Amino acid sequence: MSIQPIPFIDLQTQRLRLGAALEDAVLSVVRSGRYILGPEVAEFEKKLAAFCKAPFAMSCANGTDALLLLLMLKKVGPGDAVIVPSFTFAATAEVVVLAGAVPVFVDVDPASFCIDSASAERGIATAKAMGLRPVGIIAVDLFGHPVDYDILKPLAADHDLWLMSDCAQGFGGTYRNGRVGALGDFAATSFFPAKPLGCYGDGGAVFVHDAESLAILESLRVHGQGVDKYDNVRIGMNGRMDTLQAAVLLHKLAIFESEINARQTVARRYAERLAGLAETPQVAPGCVSTWAQYTVRVPAGMREAIVGELKGAGIPTAIYYSRPVHAQTAYSQYPVAAGGLPATEKLSGEVLSLPMHAYLDEATIDRIADTFGRAVRRAREA
Ligand SMILES: *Cc1c(COP(=O)(O)O)cnc(C)c1O
Repeated sequence: MSIQPIPFIDLQTQRLRLGAALEDAVLSVVRSGRYILGPEVAEFEKKLAAFCKAPFAMSCANGTDALLLLLMLKKVGPGDAVIVPSFTFAATAEVVVLAGAVPVFVDVDPASFCIDSASAERGIATAKAMGLRPVGIIAVDLFGHPVDYDILKPLAADHDLWLMSDCAQGFGGTYRNGRVGALGDFAATSFFPAKPLGCYGDGGAVFVHDAESLAILESLRVHGQGVDKYDNVRIGMNGRMDTLQAAVLLHKLAIFESEINARQTVARRYAERLAGLAETPQVAPGCVSTWAQYTVRVPAGMREAIVGELKGAGIPTAIYYSRPVHAQTAYSQYPVAAGGLPATEKLSGEVLSLPMHAYLDEATIDRIADTFGRAVRRAREA
């Protein structure tokens, strides 16, 4: 008997839901010839800002460029230090190095997987002790869970730092009364296909609160242009989003809210079915996660066996992140906050992400949970 493999993220069911309208929109861009900064780009930016109630949104080529454009806006450079969590995707720290500054790695809170404010405070002291000037904090809404903005915002302000939200995984989530994207001093997100809101290639966006910052970002996005791209008033980059991707995103944004709701149902079912088998992710009061990942914790010694058993049953898993950024070869020379990163190190041995998307039905969740249960019981007996 052959087993039906389960996709980790199901983009095909979503494509079928969007149907011919999305394919027509793509074809219409192809026929229009307006491939760069066509009308769909401006329309998407307007709708994107409205979605999260941010004053301004600007699209760009990918999430990494989004982060870098904001660092360029803030003129981050040599001698500066930026506080970043180590338990994240490498891009969060990479852009700091690209800007010429030093990332200072700090720990996360094991309950939310997000930046730990006490460790961030120690990271600021560590940077100063090294003779660096701490200028900002990049907080990551990891796996879709919003960071604790009410703690981090005053913490940043007290130290005269900006708070940047890296919401590549958390865009669309809610913190108290605000939507991720509009929170923090500014935000950067990604539309990589596997993100909660993804396109059919690379894409990203930045969110800012004032028109002056927006104008600078629009210049940075096109080689630091002044009156046109042959008038260069600052050093910028080529960071534009393709019109084709904006056309795709307009259709995906229209159903995003319903998908976020569907993800809550999936997460609730997982939590019920996995209770007692693994440590399931908790959502802080007043928060809505986008569930970019559904990440459980299992005892470090059992993880490999569980992954193997699930794989044998056609169930894919992923480990985000088995090696935190500070432990990566390219980042080993950069400082970590005083006190070290004990939560990050423990989590990297215990986390396990299960299939998660808006179209995961109850029968499939049950099949995953049943197999997971069998694997855990077998691992406990071993
Ligand atoms: C995906 C991701 C990025 C980078 O986005 P790209 O569009 O792939 O460049 C940055 N930060 C986090 C936390 C991410 O998950």
